[in-house]
Amino acid sequence: DGGKRPDYLAGLNPEQTEAVETLEGPVLVLAGAGTGKTRVLTTRIAHILNTGRAFPSQILAVTFTNKAAREMKERIALLVGGAVEGMPWLGTFHSIGVKLLRRHAELVGLSSDFTILDTDDVVRLIKQLIQAEGLDDKRWPAKQFAGMIDTWKNKGLGPADIPEGDARAFANGRGRDLYFAYQARLSTLNACDFGDLLMHPIAIFRKNPDLLKEYHGRFRYILVDEYQDTNTAQYMWLRLLAQRSKGEPQNVCCVGDDDQSIYGWRGAEVDNILRFEKDFPGAKVIKLERNYRSTEHILGAAAHLIAHNEGRLGKTLFTDRADPDDVKVQVHASWDSEEEARAIGEEIEQLQRGKHLLNDMAILVRASFQMREFEDRFVTLGLNYRVIGGPRFYERLEIRDAMAYFRLVAQPADDLAFERIINTPKRGLGDTTVRALHDYARARDIPMLAAAADMIETDELKPKARKALFDVIQSFRRWQELLENTPHTELAEQILEESGYTDMWKNDKSAEAPGRLENLKELIRSMESFESMRGFLEHVSLVMDAETNENLDAVSIMTLHSAKGLEFDTVFLPGWEEGLFPHQRSLDESGRAGLEEERRLAYVGITRAKRRCHIWFVSNRRIHGLWQSTLPSRFLDELPETHVEVAEMEQSYGGYGRGGYGQSRFDKAEPFANSYSTPGWKRAQANRTDATRDNWGTRSGHAVERIGYGESGPKGRTIEGE
Ligand code: ATP
Ligand code: MG
Repeated sequence: DGGKRPDYLAGLNPEQTEAVETLEGPVLVLAGAGTGKTRVLTTRIAHILNTGRAFPSQILAVTFTNKAAREMKERIALLVGGAVEGMPWLGTFHSIGVKLLRRHAELVGLSSDFTILDTDDVVRLIKQLIQAEGLDDKRWPAKQFAGMIDTWKNKGLGPADIPEGDARAFANGRGRDLYFAYQARLSTLNACDFGDLLMHPIAIFRKNPDLLKEYHGRFRYILVDEYQDTNTAQYMWLRLLAQRSKGEPQNVCCVGDDDQSIYGWRGAEVDNILRFEKDFPGAKVIKLERNYRSTEHILGAAAHLIAHNEGRLGKTLFTDRADPDDVKVQVHASWDSEEEARAIGEEIEQLQRGKHLLNDMAILVRASFQMREFEDRFVTLGLNYRVIGGPRFYERLEIRDAMAYFRLVAQPADDLAFERIINTPKRGLGDTTVRALHDYARARDIPMLAAAADMIETDELKPKARKALFDVIQSFRRWQELLENTPHTELAEQILEESGYTDMWKNDKSAEAPGRLENLKELIRSMESFESMRGFLEHVSLVMDAETNENLDAVSIMTLHSAKGLEFDTVFLPGWEEGLFPHQRSLDESGRAGLEEERRLAYVGITRAKRRCHIWFVSNRRIHGLWQSTLPSRFLDELPETHVEVAEMEQSYGGYGRGGYGQSRFDKAEPFANSYSTPGWKRAQANRTDATRDNWGTRSGHAVERIGYGESGPKGRTIEGE
């Protein structure tokens, strides 16, 4: 139309421009990390608004996290000059689902003020149902069934749709009935779970074609970021909204990267990329190949690594950013995780002296228990940090519980600690007992623990509660006596064992239980560097006090899973050891596919870096209270010599030989011999399974990042607008 091209289009390359300007018809942008996919989406929205093709409320845009949605809103506002009045339909699948459901709740038998149950509520409800059926809830754990329901809902399967085999797999063939009963119960309670936020809208659209038509009219443009990680239910939902009858515009634009599909374990279907072209015939597929984010070394390292995967669509990536000053990807070795944290801390301080902002640095871990060491170290150094996508280590539920035990042993007047653990694990000391203790203590101005000791001498409590309380008090007396003369880590372990707290999690069948046990072990480990229980407690109160002000310049610490889509000047990737990364559980549960998903996670990690990428591995990790030597991750050997260099080995590492494990190229600080062909390496391969199985192979330990962490579990999902 001959007018001046708007500024926001000026900086785009031809392929990006095509993706932004092809507003009519389906578009699939399939491109590697840092090629500007998210930028294309943002610019596309700005362009739609700027050219007056639609109002903000007529655009449906899906991001993977709420944080990403907020950022996208801000960027759009910048591009169109701040005139965007909200974008009511920009958010995650879940937040958009809530909004739709509130509007049309009555169509699925709910009223619009329905409640959304969290995982705990769901499990409690299912437990009631299992018991009501006369089934043994130990044999058929509620948490397991909650997991099954979640999996079905990710696949878009209601009770009537689940496969026969699945239905039989639980409760002697009563799985389907239970699922029906569960949905009926939710309905009675005017409640829904996370899965329903997608399932209900799907049902509503299917049963009410006229309503669906209305939404077709409303949503003139549909856009989806991180498309490779959509699950089946999300895809069904999307297809309902985007697929129109002949002659109607299907203005849907999805952007994604098959190499960054990292939520397969949560039901994401990378095949949705392939289905897109089938479901939307005539879709324009656009490839972006120029990376704007990273240096040539970083990109070269990442590309070479991911080339080891077989299941990929394949694509090229290049960058013009070749600067003679660019540093190669650095691989470092440390003796153990404490030294790793110290070394990374030093690296960060050095960058800081060079006037680099902490905001531009991130530490990306494979499993959340790895964070603890960094948090401790940074508090000691007085270095600001923030944990993204989950609670800080000492704020986690199981850590708070354990700490409450320790506090009460060291400080018997700590009533908050008393109340927290007196019935955790369950001892039959319910609210009534606690209230009685509370009143008794208040009346006499004594601590609750002392009140408890008094009250067991009276007959104010029921015999059962009295007996339970008696046992607890005896235990605390014993632990208090041990406080002065027993090594505090030993005592801590003893407390968690004898109180039944560890057993509580061992008997817990939920997906997050193994991670909680792992964190408890990490907690004991963290006590080692202190002289006494009191010294340790003091340290933790300091850590808890550390500021996490949003505006503060601070290093980010997060899991690789929650780092998707983000970028930082400097990225630290610790813990590249066999068993941890790739994670043993992934290998055990999903074999080759699991390994490939781990490798994609490594690719995501490296490609977060703009200028500097530091990878670390340690030769020893303390696992289950025992030092274990670990092997460098196989991914290290998959990095190309041309773009990677081995930083000078820590002295302690160099002095350590791993004997029987043979050697990878990282053993001798002699970079990049072709280790695949050396006999030593073969030996390492052979030993790998055994060595890592001891360390990591048991299911205990690694579910932390699955649940309640980052965006990676029902608990971790937050829903905007709720
Ligand atoms: P990821 O796969 O990691 O999500 P992405 O493909 O979404 O990456 P973006 O985050 O959109 O990539 O872009 C990566 C970086 O490159 C951003 O800093 C972005 O601003 C910049 N960028 C993208 N396109 C251009 C361009 N045409 N000119 C300059 N910078 C660009
Ligand atoms: Mg992106």
